[in-house]
Amino acid sequence: MTPAQFKKLLSELEHLTDTQVRRVETFLKGDDAVQPIITELEQRMVDTPECPHCHSSLINRHGKAGSMQRYRCKNCLKTFTATTDTPLARLRHKEKWLDYLHCMINGKVLRESAKECDINLKTSFRWRHRFLQLPATLKASLLEGIVEADETLFARSEKGSKTLDRKPRKRGMKAKKRGRSKDDWVPVLTVRDRGKHTYEAILPGVSTQQLNDELKGKIEKDSVLCSDGFKAYIKFAQGNDLIHKRLNVAAGVKVIDKVFHIQNVNAYHSRLKEWLQRFHGVATKYLDNYLGWFRFLDTQENPNKNNLFKAQQHLAGT
Ligand SMILES: [Zn+2]
Repeated sequence: MTPAQFKKLLSELEHLTDTQVRRVETFLKGDDAVQPIITELEQRMVDTPECPHCHSSLINRHGKAGSMQRYRCKNCLKTFTATTDTPLARLRHKEKWLDYLHCMINGKVLRESAKECDINLKTSFRWRHRFLQLPATLKASLLEGIVEADETLFARSEKGSKTLDRKPRKRGMKAKKRGRSKDDWVPVLTVRDRGKHTYEAILPGVSTQQLNDELKGKIEKDSVLCSDGFKAYIKFAQGNDLIHKRLNVAAGVKVIDKVFHIQNVNAYHSRLKEWLQRFHGVATKYLDNYLGWFRFLDTQENPNKNNLFKAQQHLAGT
């Protein structure tokens, strides 16, 4: 390229959109960032086999597809690889995965994400749900110090998220509704320490047994558990050598000794629900994915382009 041509190229680059700049960056840097994520997806297929077409866990190895393991589903007989239905499935899509992640971080809805990344809506839907599974398992393995625990409810939706068009339920309806029909509500337990380590689980119900199943060994001994004092928490704290501070908010006890409260976890729930609103209803079967993504996002200060690369590192390192 002559110096004059190069000068012309540089002047043209000035007119690129943000998305186009990212594509140029990806193009120049090559695929290095992609391989660790593919490795992670392949490992996940080994650890938790699942057919992307019918979600059956009964799959067989079925030759190779390039350098990747190919599988065949015993149930629907379709073949796939670990990257099927992700932005990394085809070479021509690989350059778009960062754009797509960027759209997700900015909470763009399916249609916008598709438009921004120049893919069709059906593809955007599939990508979102497979891609979202990636951070869903990112959970704190140990909480310590002052540990806040509380649960919040989500309206159960068996339908695809695309068709759900219900108004978000009102907040602050929790305590009385613990006995509410499991057909209508899904309780999500969030446990967060002051270092912002966050553990979350969708529970079949809120009982001592459930808390033990989820949290046993995950809270450091002699930590201080703060809860709203629901009886399941009392028994759980007793059985696990935890000091327990009961915040009876309904009776006006919001803070004990200035430091013991559940306001961080409650604020977390508020931010989570606000963020989820932009998706206009989330199917329950995908809820865990959204929770994972939000846990991931909420640890970032003000997501921007730099954090995108942190995000990438984070995904690659798990
Ligand atoms: Zn299948």
